[in-house]
Amino acid sequence: MNLPFSDRISEQPRIVPFQLPQDRIDADAARVVKRLTQARHKAYLVGGCVRDLLLDRTPKDFDVATDARPNEVRSLFRNCRIIGRRFRLAHVMFGPNKIIEVATFRKDPTIEAPDADGDGDADEQDLLIRHDNVFGTPPEDAARRDFTMNALFLDLERREVVDYVGGLADIEHRVIRTIGDADVRFREDPVRILRAIKFAARLDLGIEPDVYDAMVAHREDLLRTARPRLLEEMLRLMRHAASRRSVWLAWETGVLATVLPHLAAWIDDHPDASSRLWTRLAAIDARTKKGDLPSDATLFTALTLDPALESMTGVKDALVGATDFYQELQALLPMPRKLFDRVRHVAAAQRRFRTGKESTLARRDFYEDAKDVYVLDGARVRPPKEPVRRTVESG
Ligand code: ATP
Ligand code: MG
Repeated sequence: MNLPFSDRISEQPRIVPFQLPQDRIDADAARVVKRLTQARHKAYLVGGCVRDLLLDRTPKDFDVATDARPNEVRSLFRNCRIIGRRFRLAHVMFGPNKIIEVATFRKDPTIEAPDADGDGDADEQDLLIRHDNVFGTPPEDAARRDFTMNALFLDLERREVVDYVGGLADIEHRVIRTIGDADVRFREDPVRILRAIKFAARLDLGIEPDVYDAMVAHREDLLRTARPRLLEEMLRLMRHAASRRSVWLAWETGVLATVLPHLAAWIDDHPDASSRLWTRLAAIDARTKKGDLPSDATLFTALTLDPALESMTGVKDALVGATDFYQELQALLPMPRKLFDRVRHVAAAQRRFRTGKESTLARRDFYEDAKDVYVLDGARVRPPKEPVRRTVESG
């Protein structure tokens, strides 16, 4: 067999028995797999849930990969709808809020010929993925994924992990590695750089040195990705009880200087004062760990508070200073209007809290977020129940 992407995958998978931690495997996901296999389809659990199970964590959602086409999947489940324009996926619904995503095996997207979009600015180096919709085989499906740990299949019937990419060994060594050449994979989709940071921080994993170097080398490519996706990935870094480690890694790799240059410069210029930022992020993580996730406005303001306060200094109306500051950020990391409005008000409100004049804000719709940021910022004065320090140490 001569597989495409032979630099990425082995021809024969490594198959390793896996004692299923039944209490961590979602019963509905198992049902979906079972029905597909009973209909003589191949069906595996795949992606983040397999990675999390192997790392002894409880997955937050379960994805299924199968050789059944979306219409075939739909015909097997009553509670199923097909979604997606770029790539059609089946969503099997269990109750109003629970979805098991079932995707047909697919191969790496065809890479568009240089400048096929006719805008005159592409060159031969342009690997940015624009199509994503060709069905494939299990090894091809593994090869298109980002990191080896995210490309493992779990066969629930045979109780085996099927590994085409060396992901099992990497999980064992707790290291993040791209599937194939890191430079190529980050150029194809620079958001993978932020994903590497997210997984390293959240799962407390190391980053393979070549991968780390490629993240640094290609950080500016992040500006080529769709901006809403960039903002969403930055928020994801903040939401998983690992914001402190995530932002630290982003700063260390120079990614922060690309995406939020004002914040990166503030950290560089204030090595002592920046402990305040790290403490605030640790307070966010302690809170998130308890299941109390702050709002996006709270997260984003807490992240950017220090340079925002700086631009309010000496400005009579705090809101004017805050608005100027966030207006500048909009150029690189545009927030939707509603979030932008809330963030600038929440930041400006911090000055009122500091001068004890917050009662005038009590009826404003941003008050709760503003108070949250104030409390998070005072974490040293009012420590959360769990000692912040321990959270910091364990990442
Ligand atoms: P999480 O626990 O955060 O959901 P996840 O690994 O499930 O982590 P998702 O964003 O839900 O991440 O994506 C599901 C899977 O799709 C990943 O495990 C990976 O195999 C693949 N994937 C996601 N984003 C990319 C990408 N940018 N490039 C290649 N593969 C990707
Ligand atoms: Mg997921």
